[in-house]
Amino acid sequence: LQGPAAELVLNGQEEAAEKIIATEIAREDQSITQGEVYLVGGGPGDPELLTLRALRLMQQADVVLYDRLVSDGVMELVRRDAERIYVGKRRSEHAMQQENINQLLVDLAKQGKRVLRLKGGDPFIFGRGGEEIELLAQNHIPFQVVPGITAASGCAAYAGIPLTHRDYAQSVRFVTGHLKSNDPNVQWPELANPTQTIVFYMGLLGLRDICESLVAHGRAATTPVALIERGTTQQQRVLIADLATIADVVASQEVHAPTLFIVGDVVKLHENLKWFKSSM
Ligand code: SAH
Repeated sequence: LQGPAAELVLNGQEEAAEKIIATEIAREDQSITQGEVYLVGGGPGDPELLTLRALRLMQQADVVLYDRLVSDGVMELVRRDAERIYVGKRRSEHAMQQENINQLLVDLAKQGKRVLRLKGGDPFIFGRGGEEIELLAQNHIPFQVVPGITAASGCAAYAGIPLTHRDYAQSVRFVTGHLKSNDPNVQWPELANPTQTIVFYMGLLGLRDICESLVAHGRAATTPVALIERGTTQQQRVLIADLATIADVVASQEVHAPTLFIVGDVVKLHENLKWFKSSM
């Protein structure tokens, strides 16, 4: 027997010893039951685009919840013996409802686990990261958020398309492609501004509608556009066309998700600045 409690016992001060032991046990209990959630951006695909902080937390986690956009290369870097839970996320095929994911994060953390919520790109850009941590905050569960390289930055870099450029675009906008041409919340006239690059996430299904609406609101039909398929990965492919023609180009090809749609004069730079060679 060693330590302060043992000494007290040997000195006959059993009551004091018991107190010390009780506080020790309580402290251990607390560190065991206090779980934590790491909401981590896994980037657009290439595992080398992870942050060091993302990697460190990925190697600490006891359990990981991930969805379809997290690349295999990134998943390989998660702690080997961590439990893996696929929570899906395809338009029609939700392996798990959003509310259930939110609740599962809470439940796992309450069991004392270090929970990694790993998302493609950046968790706060079209990633519902905000919704997932709201419930954690309500339940007083500690969490941290690690930004990731969002698809717009990753795909633009790997396609050699600067999102802004003094000669072509003074601003850039990230817009969801899940929009209706008559949606009052969409500022079509603003999106038609020729000095602004627009990046549409989730834009493949609505591609024709998006192009037609932009032209209807005054953006030139000859505006160059790029559709980037599986950006930053070995399967990356870049289709270049203009607002008038891209929908037909895409219709004539087999296109693989995920794809990102970039609209604006900066796309002209791709021809000179492309550098990344995928195996496609
Ligand atoms: N949180 C993510 C976006 C989630 S929305 C991020 O910050 O990147 C999902 C959309 O992201 C897809 O429909 C697609 O438009 C885009 N996307 C994500 N990864 C991509 C990739 N590697 N290549 C092309 N588009 C991608």
